[in-house]
Amino acid sequence: MSDQVNKDERHKARQQKIKENVDKRIDDAQEERGVLIVITGNGKGKSTSGFGTVARCVGHGYKAGVIQFIKGTWDCGERNLLENAGVEFQVMNTGFTWETQNREADTAAAQKVWKEAKRMLADDTLHLVLLDEITYMVQYNYLDLDEVIEAIANRPQEQSVVLTGRGAHRRLTEMADTVSEVQPLKHAFDAGIKARKGVDW
Ligand code: ATP
Ligand code: MG
Repeated sequence: MSDQVNKDERHKARQQKIKENVDKRIDDAQEERGVLIVITGNGKGKSTSGFGTVARCVGHGYKAGVIQFIKGTWDCGERNLLENAGVEFQVMNTGFTWETQNREADTAAAQKVWKEAKRMLADDTLHLVLLDEITYMVQYNYLDLDEVIEAIANRPQEQSVVLTGRGAHRRLTEMADTVSEVQPLKHAFDAGIKARKGVDW
C-alpha cells in the first residue's frame, strides 16, 4: 500500500471516529429550553457575537430584544440594521462611564433601562434577549446583582439570553449554560490603527 493510501485511510478512520462521537453527543442532548450565554474577556468580539446571535434569531422569524447598557456617542451599525428588522432596542445613551464621570446620573440611567430589560425578560414572545455590556452595571453597582440574577432565572423557559462585557461576575458565569472568554492575542488599536465604522461599530 502506498504511503498516500495509508494516510488517506487513517484520515478516514479518524473522521469516522469523530463523527461517531458527535452523533452520540447530539443523540444524548435531549433537553429543550432557552439558554443563558455569557461572552466575556478582554478581546474583541463580545458584542459582535451577541448581535450575531440576534441576527440568527431574527433570520428564523423569531422576536428578539436588545438592551445596550453602555453606548458611545457614535451611531451603531447593528442597531440601524436590526431595528429595521423589528428588533426593539433600549439604549442607556449615557456613553462610557469614564466619560460621563457622574455616578448618580449613570445609576439613574442604568435603572431606567433595567426596567425595560426586566420587561423583556418577562416577555414570552421574545426568543432572545441581548443584554450588551451588562457586566459593568453589576461591577459598578449601578444594578443590584441579586435582582439581575432573579430576573434572568425567572425568564420564560423558551427564552435565551446573551450577556456581554469584560469581567463577568462569577455568579453570572456560574448560572450560565455557555460561557466564552474572548482573549486579545492582538488588537489593531494597539498598533495605532483607528477604530473603523462598519467594523468596530
Ligand atoms: P466588538 O463590539 O467589536 O465585538 P467587544 O464587545 O468585544 O467588541 P468592547 O470592550 O465592548 O469589546 O469594545 C468596544 C470597542 O472597543 C469596539 O470598538 C472594539 O472593537 C474595541 N475593542 C475591543 N477589544 C479591544 C482591545 N483589546 N483593545 C482595543 N480596543 C478593543
Ligand atoms: Mg462590547
